[in-house]
Amino acid sequence: MEEDLETSLFLEYVRRKMSFEYDEETGELAVKILRALFERNETIPDETLALILGVSAAEIRRALHAMHRVGLVGFVRESTDQYRYEYKWFLNKEFIRKFLVQHINNVASKLMHRLNALSTTTLYICPTCFRGYTLDEAYEYDFRCPRDDTELEQVDAISEIEFLTNVIKNLRIEKESPQQ
Ligand SMILES: [Zn+2]
Repeated sequence: MEEDLETSLFLEYVRRKMSFEYDEETGELAVKILRALFERNETIPDETLALILGVSAAEIRRALHAMHRVGLVGFVRESTDQYRYEYKWFLNKEFIRKFLVQHINNVASKLMHRLNALSTTTLYICPTCFRGYTLDEAYEYDFRCPRDDTELEQVDAISEIEFLTNVIKNLRIEKESPQQ
């Protein structure tokens, strides 16, 4: 399968996430595994992946399980005979699409949360030390920063709300037509 923009973005996300949570080597191996799965576009057991990539099955398994834990790779359980099961792994465009939509939803809901907080509270900030204060706190300190006695300024919530609303709108558009 050809690697499109969505796939590249996904692989880059995996590389960064795995490098951050484990180490760079795991990040690189994770991307190699996913690329192999994507190119072949079929379900593949971990022993076969080990042969394809020339990496030990133990290492492959470790990377696969790390990715599986956070939903970065697809897997199926197939029965080989009456008593035995085999685990096979896959990555395709549909899987990537579903992952990205989920991820965009999470980001959008976090932004919505921040937006609600902004529109329901008045915030003040000290222009000298950049510490933030609620309206109650600002009253208590007579609208001066208790650290450096600078006059507190009201945070420009309107423009931040506008900015965040636009970001959310763009994310929603992207979600509806991720191919554009
Ligand atoms: Zn201050």
